[in-house]
Amino acid sequence: MSPDPVPFVDLALQHRRIADEAAAAIREVIDRAQYTLGPDVADFESEFAAFSGVAHAVGVASGTDALELALRAAGVQPGDEVIIPVNTFVATAEAVVRAGGHVVVADCTPDHLIDPGSAARARTTRTRAVVGVHLYGQMAPMETLEAHLPGVTLVEDAAQSQGATRHGRPSGSWGLVAGTSFYPGKNLGAFGDGGAVLTDDDALAETARALRNHGGIRKYEHRLIGTTSRLDTIQAAVLRIRLKGLDADNAERELAARRYAELLRDVDGVDLPQVAAGNTHVWHLFVVGVDQRDRVQAALADAGVGCGIHYPLPIHRLPAFADRVMVAPGGVTQAEAGAERILSLPMFPGITPDQQERVADVLRRAVAR
Ligand SMILES: *Cc1c(COP(=O)(O)O)cnc(C)c1O
Repeated sequence: MSPDPVPFVDLALQHRRIADEAAAAIREVIDRAQYTLGPDVADFESEFAAFSGVAHAVGVASGTDALELALRAAGVQPGDEVIIPVNTFVATAEAVVRAGGHVVVADCTPDHLIDPGSAARARTTRTRAVVGVHLYGQMAPMETLEAHLPGVTLVEDAAQSQGATRHGRPSGSWGLVAGTSFYPGKNLGAFGDGGAVLTDDDALAETARALRNHGGIRKYEHRLIGTTSRLDTIQAAVLRIRLKGLDADNAERELAARRYAELLRDVDGVDLPQVAAGNTHVWHLFVVGVDQRDRVQAALADAGVGCGIHYPLPIHRLPAFADRVMVAPGGVTQAEAGAERILSLPMFPGITPDQQERVADVLRRAVAR
């Protein structure tokens, strides 16, 4: 008999933990018959703003929309250049293009976070903003980015970092504005899509609020060209419950990360993820580095262990972006080399020691071959 497969994430397990409470909350939204905005959205927004250490959270339909509206609210104009790390989810780049900006990609450091030196080399007279992506669950070096790019608007992509801190300051509270995602697989995941714009700036928050709702705060008063991108009320009701458990979920991820580090410590050929100085990590992903990654991933898949690659192709190699991306002078060689070696192991709150031992055993055998 072959052992049970180990999933990459176990969303059903997370759901079971809040199933009854969530069902009751969803039922209440349905009974109240207020299906857009309303008290659940407003309450979630103030709870999540407090959690993130900012004055305002504006709930929107997705993380991608959050980033686009954040950039637009921050004043990015058609033709402006926006610097992003080249190793990120495609949504960071999409948001820039949809806001009218030009994507400029910077390299990363060996910990996969944006390299402030590369970002500084990418600066031109048209640079308007730089997006620090808090990749895999730890924060980009925001204060160094700021120091290297004085006068450039600082934006955060906080989709993978809910609950993370840098020098004690929460993810989402470092930039002028941040965008985050509540896609089900994120640390703070809904039962569908959702996102939020985070900021301390009152005027910027009001603009984001208008943009998500046809460009107006009041009905039929369209100040700006906006869109339909409100956080769904049912998702807000679910997120209020998930937010209460987020610190405990992140603590379980931290425990699991320690276990992996222990299990894989002496395994030759596996680079373990590093936590940058000043950061607390919320382990959205546990990403190791291995030689012959495709062969290793196939061996894990054959043994029933689910893995991922985040991300197989840097932004400038994606067909949709290849012709419209400017690469930082000096190139993005660290990110290109990293993309060949990265492998994300199963990581989710509630992963058991047995499951992790299986992952480690299979991985150990795969890299030894
Ligand atoms: C998930 C993610 C997004 C986009 O969020 P969606 O809710 O899927 O639109 C943006 N940036 C990063 C780094 C992400 O991981």
